[in-house]
Amino acid sequence: MDSISLLGIRIDKITFPTAMEAVKDFIESGTPHIIVTADASAVVIAQEDKVLAEIINSADLVTPDSSGIMIASKWYGSPLPQKVSGVDLAVEMADLAAREGYPMFLLGAAPGVAEEAARELVRRYPPLKIAGVRDGFFTDESEVVQAVAASGAKILLVAMGIPRQEKFIAGNMERMGISVGMGVGGTFDVLSGRVTRAPQWMRRHGLEWVHRLASNPKKITKVATLPRFLWMVLVDRLRRI
Ligand code: UDP
Repeated sequence: MDSISLLGIRIDKITFPTAMEAVKDFIESGTPHIIVTADASAVVIAQEDKVLAEIINSADLVTPDSSGIMIASKWYGSPLPQKVSGVDLAVEMADLAAREGYPMFLLGAAPGVAEEAARELVRRYPPLKIAGVRDGFFTDESEVVQAVAASGAKILLVAMGIPRQEKFIAGNMERMGISVGMGVGGTFDVLSGRVTRAPQWMRRHGLEWVHRLASNPKKITKVATLPRFLWMVLVDRLRRI
């Protein structure tokens, strides 16, 4: 698969349909695969967190999940074709899982949120089989791993934030027996209706972060990584001239 490197972190040059084709192949293969949906904060965190960097660079699929990543790819002269976000992939995977009968496990977010997100996905795709749900504030990791393994889930969505979700999937996917594990950040909060998504026009113009900040000022630390990321990219770009 064609990819680019942003500050040493791999991002795949894919479109939404090709990402879904890859998901189908991963599930049909029956062996464990990890998908990372990378945003600017993931690339910034991975500069210091070498374990995360290694997980992303060896992942089966790394999708561009933020406007910051899209802008940076243009600055490097190899623009990525399309933003492929975790929330959109999660919803499309639920549709696929419902059609093909693949059981799906939702792990993460505050107590009760994964249940509400699961209810919403089943409302949209009624034949969807939810293998299990679990909140993301546990202390006994091996017990959660066993619960996922025992559920028979083929697809695991993990909403515990970067890098915890990626480390959980990478460290446990063999034992959990899943075919696809994907970190989805705040997706369950959105699906459960606790957090609203930016309107279409804002998303089209790369302004999702404005909406995120306006609806939750506590997100300032995360949003502030965007200018930091762009600055790092600019410096790196100038160094290469
Ligand atoms: N979360 C969790 N366990 C933790 C920390 C966070 O389940 O130990 C959840 C949190 O409730 C939220 C999600 O992880 O639903 C992180 O969302 P956020 O939008 O911050 O993720 P990002 O995509 O920004 O990493």
